[in-house]
Amino acid sequence: MRRYALGAVAGGAAVAAGFAAIHLMEPSPATGPRVAQQVEEAENEYTAAMIADWERGAEKAVDLALLASPGVRGASRNREQRELVVGRGDTVMRLLLRADVPRNQAAAAIAAMRKVYDPRRIVPGQKLVVTYLAGDAGLEDRNISLRGIDLVTGPGKTVVVTRKASGYRARRVEAPTEIRLARVGGKISSSLYRAAEKADMPLPILLQLVRVFSWDVDFQREIRAGDSFDVAWKSLYTPEGLLVDHGDMVYASLTLRGKRLELYRFESRHGTDYFDRKGAGARKPLLRTPIDGARLSSRYGKRRHPILGYTRMHRGVDFAARPGTPIFAAGDGRVAYAGRKGTYGIYVRIRHNERYQTAYAHMRAIRRGIRRGARVNQGQVIGYVGSTGRSTGPHLHYEILIDGRQVNPMRVAMTPQLRLKGEELAAFHVYRGSLERQLARIGTSGIVKVSSR
Ligand SMILES: [Zn+2]
Repeated sequence: MRRYALGAVAGGAAVAAGFAAIHLMEPSPATGPRVAQQVEEAENEYTAAMIADWERGAEKAVDLALLASPGVRGASRNREQRELVVGRGDTVMRLLLRADVPRNQAAAAIAAMRKVYDPRRIVPGQKLVVTYLAGDAGLEDRNISLRGIDLVTGPGKTVVVTRKASGYRARRVEAPTEIRLARVGGKISSSLYRAAEKADMPLPILLQLVRVFSWDVDFQREIRAGDSFDVAWKSLYTPEGLLVDHGDMVYASLTLRGKRLELYRFESRHGTDYFDRKGAGARKPLLRTPIDGARLSSRYGKRRHPILGYTRMHRGVDFAARPGTPIFAAGDGRVAYAGRKGTYGIYVRIRHNERYQTAYAHMRAIRRGIRRGARVNQGQVIGYVGSTGRSTGPHLHYEILIDGRQVNPMRVAMTPQLRLKGEELAAFHVYRGSLERQLARIGTSGIVKVSSR
C-alpha cells in the first residue's frame, strides 16, 4: 500500500490494514516505550469500541474461507486456528513465524503456495488463517504441526494450502458471489459517526466516506446538526446471502449547510479514484483534515471551543480528538523537523515542495521512522494526538505554511491533482448516469442485487 489514503478508499481490505499497522506499532525511540505503550492502549480501546462492526464483516469473509477449506471441517479438540492480518512489509513467512509455525513447515507450505499464488503479492489488510494441530497443552507446548493456510486474496477468493500425506498442496478457491448495491442516507444530529451508525452504515464505508472527503471537509468545524449524508456502496454476497465483503463506496454525498458535495468512484486510466460530477478528482495536494475524521468528536470539540477557538494570534487549526488518535501526513513530502519544539510540544513539520510546508503540534508521540529527512506519503500516520507543550487538552494543532509563513488552512485553495478529460470524461458521464439511475431505483435507502459473477 503506497499511500494510506489511496489504499483506504480503494477497499475494505485496505481499511483493515490501517488497523493492522496499529498492532504492529513499535515503541518510538523519541518518546520511550512507556508513551508508545499508552498510545497502543488508546488504539486498542478504539479498536474495541468502534471496530466491532468492521470485524463482524471481516469474520464473515474468513468464515467463507474456512468453509472452503476441507482441512478445517470437523475440527478436533487440539486443532487450533489463528487469524492474522497482513501488515505493511509483512511476508507470508514472517506471518507464519509470528503464528509460532516451525520454520521448516512454513517453508514447505509456502513452496506449495507458490505453485498457485506468488506469496510476494500479499498486500496489507489481507487475512491469513493458520490451522495447526497442537499437543493437548494447546499452543504452549510448541509441538505444532501446520495443517493448512487460508489466505483471503480478494472478495470470495482464497488460496488454500492443506497438508496431505504427500506434503502440502495448494489450490485457489473462488466462491461465487453476487454484487448488491446498498444505499443509506441520514441527517446528522450529534455526530457523523452516530448518524452513520443509526443509518446502519457499515464502519468500513464510513471510513471510506471520511477519507474521500478529507481533502475538502474539515470534519470538526464543518459538520453541524442538520447536515446530511447519502452514501452507496457495492457489497459482495454468496448466493446464500452471506456477506463476503462490504466492498467499495461508489457514491458519497455530504450536504453541509445546504451545500451539496458529491463524489463518484470511477476507474480512470490512472487507477480507481473519486471524482465530483464534473470529473475533477477528490484528491488534493494537502488534506484538510489530517487526522482520522471519523474519530473526531464534535461534542468534545464544541465544549473545547471557548478555550481553543480562534484568536488573531492563532496560526493554525485545532482538532480536538482523543489521545492516541492517528495523525496523517497532509501531503507527500519530506520531514523537515521531528521532535520537541518549545510551546508546540512534540512537533513534526513536513516540506511538500519549495513553497508549502505543514506542521503538527502537541503530539503525544511521533511514529517510529518519522525523522528529519524521511519521505512521507499523503495519509501516512506520522504521530498521535496528545497534549504536549502549551496545550490545555488533547488536540492536534495543524498549520499550513507558504514561504515559511502560516496561512489559514481553511482558506488555502487547492486544485485537484487529476481532472478527467476527453473520452475518459465522456465515459465518466455515461457511468455516472447509469449509477444515478440505479440509485434512483433504490430510493433514499435500500439494497438491490446488481449482478452475479
Ligand atoms: Zn492550535
